[in-house]
Amino acid sequence: MARRLLPSLTLAVVGLVAVVAVNPASAAPERTGGAYLVDGVRTWDDRNRVAATGAAIDALEDGRADVTATPAEARAIRRLGYRITQNRAENFPKADAGYHNYAEMVAELDQAAKDHPAILRKMSIGKSYQGRDMPIVKISDNVAVDEDEPELLFNAHQHAREHLTVEMALYLVRLFTDNYGKDARITRLVNTREIWIVPDMNPDGGEYDIATGSYRSWRKNRQPTPGTGAIGTDLNRNWGYNFGCCGGSSFIPSSETYHGSKAFSATETRRLRDFVLSRRVKGVQQIKASIDFHTYSELILWPYGYTMDPTAKGLNADQQATFKALGTKMAKTNGYTPEQSSSLYITDGSIIDWLWATQGIWAYTFEMFPTSPEKGGFYPPASVIAAQTARNKEATLLLSEYADCAYRAINKQQQYCYIQ
Ligand SMILES: [Zn+2]
Repeated sequence: MARRLLPSLTLAVVGLVAVVAVNPASAAPERTGGAYLVDGVRTWDDRNRVAATGAAIDALEDGRADVTATPAEARAIRRLGYRITQNRAENFPKADAGYHNYAEMVAELDQAAKDHPAILRKMSIGKSYQGRDMPIVKISDNVAVDEDEPELLFNAHQHAREHLTVEMALYLVRLFTDNYGKDARITRLVNTREIWIVPDMNPDGGEYDIATGSYRSWRKNRQPTPGTGAIGTDLNRNWGYNFGCCGGSSFIPSSETYHGSKAFSATETRRLRDFVLSRRVKGVQQIKASIDFHTYSELILWPYGYTMDPTAKGLNADQQATFKALGTKMAKTNGYTPEQSSSLYITDGSIIDWLWATQGIWAYTFEMFPTSPEKGGFYPPASVIAAQTARNKEATLLLSEYADCAYRAINKQQQYCYIQ
């Protein structure tokens, strides 16, 4: 449901009015702005009174203004006598309506649960910083039972502007459910695996990124850093293995790669961490392999990110060879470039380092389409969604098949997986 924006000429005039009215929000759009709807904004005077609070007027239609405002600005607008409500229906620009916003993502999961009750369960890993539910789905036969089967974790959207990754997760939901009982390979996987999918690790940041109808290029979550004016932690620098160790993240709160005040200081990373820890049964982690989806660059990355060394503490030569062999096999199916995460650049506090080092999960990062800003960067058109998500079908199925014994990728299953 896309909102109609004002014709650009009118918008420009409104923008000018806001600037004339000295609008600090427009000077610093990265402050704690939330999206609101304000009713009764009919005249030039109305618009000026709203803008003078410091709120940014993003669009106007039939006496209703879409504004971005801090909580204090929202209260000021209310004191002026306008009806102001939080705008939960944040949406993609009309041309990109094929992307799912938060509400549409939740609706699709609800529908999938209705359509496939025998093999799909929708649950929650808790709430985001701003209180949005963070759904997780489990896909398996006998879905209500915790069977002794290798488990997989697919999660997406740690970074707000990487919206294609939510589509990737929704594609996987459809892949494993709609083909169940029809495609022998997928049916076998659903029968012998437990597949967990978290489509939206950063619902607050994702909604903020699209809230005005034009993209903000927002990356982090929306959690303020106390004692500073800064908003947001880079979730994929906030994980608790060698946190902040190696210059692969920033300690400056306003930075795009701010790692947070300490490991797991971000609400959303704690949610997924707690879920992963909950899958330790009698001391044995049930999740065997995972993919954390990002955009862009068309890469398949494996641990570690914090060091250039191919092997390091907790990652021996056979394990490194397994990561590489499986990563390379997957890359042959989708045309991505396979490499150790640090080949791209050093990152510390990333999810894959934590998943491997502390849980022994064969954890990969996929950097999806495209390869360059010229080809769409973080915002490729919705027309690419179908092809660029299906592109990872084979890689996903391959990893799922190897989840019982990743060492098969280097022919060492006898040594590591089948203890006589
Ligand atoms: Zn990312």
